[in-house]
Amino acid sequence: MDEAALPEFFMLWQRLANVQLVPEREDVLLWRWSTDGIYSAQSAYRAFFAGQVRAPISEEIWRSRAPYSCKFFAWLASKNRCWTADRLRRRGLPCPSACPLCDQEPETLQHLLLGCVVARETWAWALRCWGREEWLPDPDTDLLEWWTSRACPTAHRRNMWTAIILVFWCIWRHRNDVVFNGAVASHGAIRDKVREEFERWRLAKLFRGTFFVFLDPTVVPWQDGE
Ligand SMILES: [Zn+2]
Repeated sequence: MDEAALPEFFMLWQRLANVQLVPEREDVLLWRWSTDGIYSAQSAYRAFFAGQVRAPISEEIWRSRAPYSCKFFAWLASKNRCWTADRLRRRGLPCPSACPLCDQEPETLQHLLLGCVVARETWAWALRCWGREEWLPDPDTDLLEWWTSRACPTAHRRNMWTAIILVFWCIWRHRNDVVFNGAVASHGAIRDKVREEFERWRLAKLFRGTFFVFLDPTVVPWQDGE
């Protein structure tokens, strides 16, 4: 017997020491992933995720009401896995030499979604709509830090995460329009996309209440304490 097997043999011996076999009783197969011991596809699927640990940001993204394709994009963005120039360059793939929106800075996801002058104009407008101008990111603001530290009343949290994902999604789509379809980069085009998309999401009841709307900034829908 090889040396590694010996300790395993003794462990098994110890565990089986109290097992009494009853010859007249037939062996039964028990499925340990369900309470009744019976196999079901649902319990097998759940078993895949046993022991998984989810990051708080992922929980918020999946709890938001954004459409699945947008949640998936947001989840990739939270892991910095979107195909911006820095990532493409690391893999030796063709990539824009500068940020396609401002043509001034190297393109990273953090720059594109928050720090870029075009993105910041979009945020300045969206945050004015929400009455939250103080949330305006700086050019160097850390994406995850900013994204996860926005505070709002619990009742509106899902709206807020949905609204933030909507803005990120529209910036990303506009960036792709510029890179792949020759569109002209502009804050106005992103704002139009946000409004158009918002209207669809609102009709689909993905937003509840009037706190994270994208109206003219003269309308301030959010009051503290609500
Ligand atoms: Zn830029």
